[in-house]
Amino acid sequence: MSAHERDAARQRLNEGVQAWTDRWRVVNGLLICVKCGTRQRPSEANVPFAHSITCALRDDLAYRQPWLELADLLLDLPAGAGA
Ligand SMILES: [Zn+2]
Repeated sequence: MSAHERDAARQRLNEGVQAWTDRWRVVNGLLICVKCGTRQRPSEANVPFAHSITCALRDDLAYRQPWLELADLLLDLPAGAGA
């Protein structure tokens, strides 16, 4: 991977995590929707997230499996020692 590709991958990672944290919080082991406050345990990651009926994120399929979305983002964390 070239330095340019590495910089682009780092930027995607940083922006992806930023976007995720615009919608979700992890508190006391629970994932929480910042819009409606609904919570989900990590062991329920494969269950579609059940937003409240009035939540702005409720009908967006992109926001139905937030734990898995986070796990996917974190696959791109740089591994090993180095700058
Ligand atoms: Zn919600």
